[in-house]
Amino acid sequence: MKKRIAILPGDGIGKEVTRGAVEVLQAIGERFGHQFSFSYGKIGGGAVDEMGTPLPDETTRLCKDSDAVLLGAVGGPKWDQIPVHLRPERGLLKIRKELDLYANLRPTLYYSSLADASPLKKEVIEDVDLLMVRELTGGLYFGKPSERSTQDGRDVVVDTLFYQKEEMTRVIKLAFELAQNRGGKVTSVDKANVLESSRMWREVAEEVAKDFPEVTLEHMLVDNAAMQMVRNPKQFDVVVTENMFGDILSDEASVLTGSLGMLPSASISEKGPYLYEPIHGSAPDIEGQNIANPLATILSVAMMLRLSFGLEEEAQAVEASVNEVLNNGFRTKDIASPGKKLVSTTEMVEEVKATI
Ligand code: ATP
Ligand code: MG
Repeated sequence: MKKRIAILPGDGIGKEVTRGAVEVLQAIGERFGHQFSFSYGKIGGGAVDEMGTPLPDETTRLCKDSDAVLLGAVGGPKWDQIPVHLRPERGLLKIRKELDLYANLRPTLYYSSLADASPLKKEVIEDVDLLMVRELTGGLYFGKPSERSTQDGRDVVVDTLFYQKEEMTRVIKLAFELAQNRGGKVTSVDKANVLESSRMWREVAEEVAKDFPEVTLEHMLVDNAAMQMVRNPKQFDVVVTENMFGDILSDEASVLTGSLGMLPSASISEKGPYLYEPIHGSAPDIEGQNIANPLATILSVAMMLRLSFGLEEEAQAVEASVNEVLNNGFRTKDIASPGKKLVSTTEMVEEVKATI
């Protein structure tokens, strides 16, 4: 199989972790006989410095011409003081918009070898395998009006929760499709006892469910879901929810695994290309020290192989390698523990490649 992959390293440790992930892709290509070609684009603070914009047009074009996009991270203290429209994070928001990435997928997996990295009890998180599907382009974060004003001499403020029904349908449908190939259960999270938008969300979920008789649908109110996530996360398979609820719950779910350095994500559009990135940021405090954990980005590559290219066996090979390397006791600093082998970013990448 031939695939073109756009690599946007970005800032800080983004450069270090994407370098490692590209090497892993190359190793997969060699082992399974695929031709992956890589083209590099600028995004974030580095792009501002060199080209005066956090997302140059040529980067957008490069992404649109590729089969998949791998992003590292953007931002850092160096750009904290620049005007808002030049902020590195703007580059990220803009590329999401340009590629119409309407759903963000964050899997949370239990790694027995990292059980002590989570603040939660082992019995609670053991064997957790859940996938958060968050609507990414609608809802409260994009609705207009969103403004302050004065009414009868009082300061007032309004934010708008706006959705087109189709925007709900496509993300809920995606959740069902994903559930079909996993545990066969969708938990749809809403606040239908209070919000009109949530009542529509629930109706749409029921409608979509009719096309997936083999998937079980369950509704859960968001406040309860927040509690269940840390009380009994094993009950979840695929969790689907609107933008703001998903923002909050996906950060909560990330606590289950332990380290930010372990968590991958994928953002999905209708036509592709999809964008893959670790959920962590550019970690300027550890930049350039060769100590960043590359596994979140490597696991993002596994998602790319599975979701963009349909290469399930290859995806599993990456995931199995990560597991094996952890089981063999290799640890970057963020997941280090006594008695384990402390390795650098590049050494960790070498271990994963060797296992592949
Ligand atoms: P952003 O606003 O871009 O999300 P952030 O302020 O949330 O960034 P991160 O850059 O994600 O922060 O870093 C948070 C902490 O986690 C930092 O101390 C950082 O060093 C650490 N960290 C993040 N990613 C990794 C990684 N891959 N390996 C090791 N440590 C990491
Ligand atoms: Mg953050």
